Amino acid sequence: MDQTKILLDENEMPTQWYNILSDIKVEPPLNPATNEPMDPKDLEPIFAKELIKQEISSEKYIDIPKDILEIYALWRPSPLYRAHRLEKALGTPAKIYYKNESVSPAGSHKPNTAIAQAYYNMKEGTERITTETGAGQWGSSLSLCCNYFDMECKVYMVSSSFYQKPYRKSLINLWGATVIPSPSTETQFGRKIREMYPDTTGSLGIAISEAIEEAALNDNTKYALGSVLNHTSLHQTVVGLETQAQFDKTEDYPDIVIGCCGGGSNLAGVALPYIRDNLAGKTDTRFIAVEPSACPTLTSGEFKYDFGDMAQQTPLLKMYTLGSEFIPPAIHAGGLRYHGVSPIISKLVSDGIMEATSYHQVEVFDAAVAFARSEGIAPAPESAHAIKSAIDEALKCKETGEEKTILFNLSGHGHFDMASYDKYFSGELSND
Ligand SMILES: *Cc1c(COP(=O)(O)O)cnc(C)c1O
Repeated sequence: MDQTKILLDENEMPTQWYNILSDIKVEPPLNPATNEPMDPKDLEPIFAKELIKQEISSEKYIDIPKDILEIYALWRPSPLYRAHRLEKALGTPAKIYYKNESVSPAGSHKPNTAIAQAYYNMKEGTERITTETGAGQWGSSLSLCCNYFDMECKVYMVSSSFYQKPYRKSLINLWGATVIPSPSTETQFGRKIREMYPDTTGSLGIAISEAIEEAALNDNTKYALGSVLNHTSLHQTVVGLETQAQFDKTEDYPDIVIGCCGGGSNLAGVALPYIRDNLAGKTDTRFIAVEPSACPTLTSGEFKYDFGDMAQQTPLLKMYTLGSEFIPPAIHAGGLRYHGVSPIISKLVSDGIMEATSYHQVEVFDAAVAFARSEGIAPAPESAHAIKSAIDEALKCKETGEEKTILFNLSGHGHFDMASYDKYFSGELSND
């Protein structure tokens, strides 16, 4: 039988990240006060200098520091799986592979960048990092990674998730960070929003504004963002680079690469190294970004300059956006509820290098259950969007008889999402 798990040794782990900005150009961030390209120095009160450097670097490969490699080695290289049992259940001639990023301590791909961001901040003397979290995955990842370097971490958690996902909150506390519901009374912006919208359940845009406000006002404090920005995509390329080394140990090469897309970082992670090979004329792989119909940034948004947060404090980014005031419905894939998306992914979609598609949440949970009942792993609702698309592509192959190789990124597990699964099973899950 063909292999089920394709593993790498620790010493086969990539030692550099791939920077796609060496191969494609994205429009620069603009200073909202002047509408001119941002001076990188203006970002220094908020971000570590090395991260700002990486954000605008056009160097093709950036060395991964040894201290980061040592932490990566706690769960990396992550396994690549061939989904034999899912293929059989679908009766498809397609080969389905998935990269399992759920094996990190936080249960998702997010620590790949959290550890890098914590490390560079520690190096530059930052004592405390503030951030926001939607579903709690980023907050728990940053909490985990600040703890490795004895730094404080404070998380503004979107209030709807704070109450719906109490165990993500517990995990954030377990690794030593503080977490409070947003909008909070601890920032000027939070107080203003609570006054204007007393019933609001919060949004990522609001929580980002709160976390940035606190970092901007304190010298020892910096801010970290879990997705969207170029440096988060850069750090995630360890996922795709490992996957390529793993495929080298098989007879296959992916014809289609799929990832769910919230801010775009796990998709960038798995896809960018393959896009590098397409751009070099070596391959002709298809790429699919999958988003929820309830927050259809790439499939219905506009490609234009917009703010990253609701208080309109951030630089303007050229991206697909639903508008910085958009508050998406409280769907269960909380990690995919963001009004914007990474400028890199936006550019790739706009240039026709990547496709985008969207699904409703009930059909996404149908796919999650099919996956759990064949492969065993309970996927995060976010990752289930990628599974749904992979299943659809595999079913197309069943019709045409094509033996395509399909790869998707299993961005995380759903162990903290059981309340959503319960709702699905009791028929309470709606499609809007
Ligand atoms: C945060 C998260 C996502 C969405 O973020 P991206 O930056 O689009 O990857 C997807 N899956 C999981 C499991 C997440 O935690």
